[in-house]
Amino acid sequence: MENVKRHAWLWWTFILALVTLSLVLGFLQYRWIGAVSRAERQNLRETLEAGITRVSHQLNSELSAAASALLPEEVEADRRERERDYAAAFAQVKAGLYGPLVKREFLAVPEQSTIQLRGLDEKAGVFRAEAWPAGWEHLRAMLESRAKGEFPDFDAIAQSGADTPGVVEIPRFGPGGRTRGTKELEWIIVEFDTDHIFRSTLPALMQTHLGKNDAANYDLEVTAGPEHKLLFQSAGAIGRADASVATFDAHGGLFRGRRGRGNGRPPMAGPERGVWTLAVRHHAGSLEAFVEQARVRNLAVTGGILVLMMFAVAALVRLTRRSQRLAELQIQFVAGVSHELRTPLSVMRTAGHNLRGAMAADPEKVRKYGGLIEQQAESLGAIVEQVLSFARGKSGSPIGRLEPASVKFLIEEAVKAAGCPTELEIEPNLPLVLADATSLRHALQNLLTNAAKYGRPGDPVRVEAGLNRNGSPGSVEIRVRDRGEGIPRHELRHIFDPFYRGASAVAKQIHGTGLGLTITRGIIRAHRGTIAVKSEPGSGTEFTIRLEPAPAGDVK
Ligand code: ADP
Repeated sequence: MENVKRHAWLWWTFILALVTLSLVLGFLQYRWIGAVSRAERQNLRETLEAGITRVSHQLNSELSAAASALLPEEVEADRRERERDYAAAFAQVKAGLYGPLVKREFLAVPEQSTIQLRGLDEKAGVFRAEAWPAGWEHLRAMLESRAKGEFPDFDAIAQSGADTPGVVEIPRFGPGGRTRGTKELEWIIVEFDTDHIFRSTLPALMQTHLGKNDAANYDLEVTAGPEHKLLFQSAGAIGRADASVATFDAHGGLFRGRRGRGNGRPPMAGPERGVWTLAVRHHAGSLEAFVEQARVRNLAVTGGILVLMMFAVAALVRLTRRSQRLAELQIQFVAGVSHELRTPLSVMRTAGHNLRGAMAADPEKVRKYGGLIEQQAESLGAIVEQVLSFARGKSGSPIGRLEPASVKFLIEEAVKAAGCPTELEIEPNLPLVLADATSLRHALQNLLTNAAKYGRPGDPVRVEAGLNRNGSPGSVEIRVRDRGEGIPRHELRHIFDPFYRGASAVAKQIHGTGLGLTITRGIIRAHRGTIAVKSEPGSGTEFTIRLEPAPAGDVK
């Protein structure tokens, strides 16, 4: 017993340590996930910003390369030849790597106080005078002022970039080339294919610089000019952007020599220049939302694992308590049974000894000792029977074949076997019940002997049988009642447990194995019946068995 207790103590300490450890780990994990999320957010933002800056840079490089290729290095003085060269350069660009980027080409030529627009007829390879398209007023006004020798103003370029998205003017300078103070003589106006840029170039660049999977996680928005006129949205308005960058600067290569003068600042802030703003936002709503989602998911998984561990610990506790109880009960049982066996055995040994000796001559004594041996052997047999029937109930059904039986007959047989004084009250004409008569008699006998053992000394056990009028109608009820000490409330839920013996039974050394009620309940349940107990400490105990009547066809 001491051993069992020490083990139990160790177990409890272990379980407590396990719970504490789980809680500490849970807390650390919570903090760790928080720290990881913050780092992740920072990292994602930096990667995103660097990525879209590279996107803008490459787009600008491609635009500048295409724009430079449109203006031949050597320009003919003769206008027709010059225009032929322009057309040839355009055809070459169109057929080359940047072909899909450019859509149309025009020529803006100053003529007296105005500027004439000449559109390229690609098929014929010639430029023809054209009316200025609607909406190009800003561009036209800007070129008119530049024709007078004014320096290109980036604000004006930005404004015209918003009015005529994708349209870029490439100046041809007078003698001296692209140096300070030289006048712009005319302009090649190239119209880039914005649709292609938005739907094909930008997504491809995003994939290259952010990675295929990550690029797919971001929505894109392109706006132009100081007022952020909307040009393109990949998936609805994005509201607050996770990162943005200026882009679309086809002048990079052309004005390089003139930077730093007057209005030479970039029209948009950021490491890249351009008249457009490229803004991106994570699908989840924002990077914060995305990281928060991941954090909540991580926390949920960790929490789930912790809860699972707690359940496992709870199961362990239950199991431990059960096995601990069982170990205690088994020890009690062994002690109890040994005690039970010792008394009849010593009586039998003494009687045998006496029979062998002088008493053998006295027939009266022989009969007395013989009777004693028989009685003790019977009590030994009852104990063995009890243990065997418990073992039978554990390894299979505790009962045999069911046959219709009379309740009155079963009770009378049980009373006879129990051999205790009883007071019977059995309703006449009770229906038969389906029973294995031997087992059911055994079950009733257990209740009767208990009532005799634990009842008031000298009191007869009261047995009543009748039809159940409250619960399931038609069922038969057998009540076994005594007026003994009763069962304390806290013991009531244990009395049907195997090997359980009440404290008072143990203290008063009342014979028993702690198996009687376990076996009785097993037998009643195997008959599809129920057994209930009502006990008032001080005024007695009543066990009630309910059995279903045998079906009508089975009546004997
Ligand atoms: P046993 O009688 O061998 O101890 P049982 O399984 O028959 O084992 O009963 C278990 C316990 O229930 C008993 O030890 C006793 O404490 C309590 N008990 C059973 N019947 C009665 C009763 N009629 N009155 C008081 N206590 C009872």
